[in-house]
Amino acid sequence: YAKMNGVSHVVEYQSKLHDIFAKKIRLENDLQVALENHEFSLYYQPKVNIRLGTVNVEALIRWKHPQLGMISPAEFIPIAEETNVIDKIGTWVLQQACHDLRGLQKMGFTSLKMAVNLSARQFMDEHLETMVSDIFAEANVSPSSFVFEITETTVMKEPYEVIRILQKLKQKGITIAIDDFGVSYSSLNYLNRFPIDAVKIDRSFIRDLDENHKGAEIVEAIISLAHRLNLEVTAEGVETEEQVRFLLEKGCDEMQGYYFSQPVPLEQLPSVLNDLQSLIAKWK
Ligand code: C2E
Ligand code: MG
Ligand code: MG
Ligand code: MG
Repeated sequence: YAKMNGVSHVVEYQSKLHDIFAKKIRLENDLQVALENHEFSLYYQPKVNIRLGTVNVEALIRWKHPQLGMISPAEFIPIAEETNVIDKIGTWVLQQACHDLRGLQKMGFTSLKMAVNLSARQFMDEHLETMVSDIFAEANVSPSSFVFEITETTVMKEPYEVIRILQKLKQKGITIAIDDFGVSYSSLNYLNRFPIDAVKIDRSFIRDLDENHKGAEIVEAIISLAHRLNLEVTAEGVETEEQVRFLLEKGCDEMQGYYFSQPVPLEQLPSVLNDLQSLIAKWK
């Protein structure tokens, strides 16, 4: 009987694996046509600097699958990375973000900076610089209005090549931020070696603020280390008033998270940005 049970577990496990692979293959296929079918959109989440009273935004991609509904970028971006689809998606994201930024500028949000996420493969693409310059020129936006967010795993791949690319992007005036900072084992290793402007403390550290005092010590240490190295600090995943109070006290430059706003479609962004001004005023 026990043996039978074991066998049935194996069968169950195999069928689960089968489901996972089947879904992956399906998404891989469907990603090929998602762009042409206009299934992607960009949402925007505010990044708030209470001290300066300014707000920037991060573009976050959304995929509305015709049958499966909303699929998280955490699920489909890695799949897009394995195929060459990420190149086309990345180009579309930048074009759309430029277009939307122009719209926001025309509405009077003239000092707002637009952050976009770059995946590892996009970042290492030999055409990146020309692609970026062409898109900015065509959309008539300044590179200095843009922040590129790249993750730690990206910069660790080929350090020397990465430094060269970062220098080129910085020369254009683009701001470079390290996303999900602190989660990789080599976080401290590259802080002084790579020409970057900002770090975004990973959400897991902000969550830990509530758990124990060690969590608070770590966040405080990251902020002060980054500042000593002349880097700006953004905290991601800020959800509570207590977290805001702590981060403000420790001099964190920018905060992002559900406390301020969820990511919203472009149409909702102007009113969200305006509402944030009264929230900022409360903290001053
Ligand atoms: P990320 O760049 O670190 O973005 C932060 C993620 O945390 C977003 O998830 C955001 O919706 C979520 N978030 C923001 N505030 C809070 C909060 O207070 N609490 C919680 N629990 N979550 C919060 P999202 O939009 O699902 O994106 C996931 C990841 O997918 C992003 O992580 C980024 O790495 C990647 N991604 C998103 N858009 C793009 C894109 O256009 N291109 C590329 N290459 N990657 C993208
Ligand atoms: Mg990001
Ligand atoms: Mg992040
Ligand atoms: Mg993240």
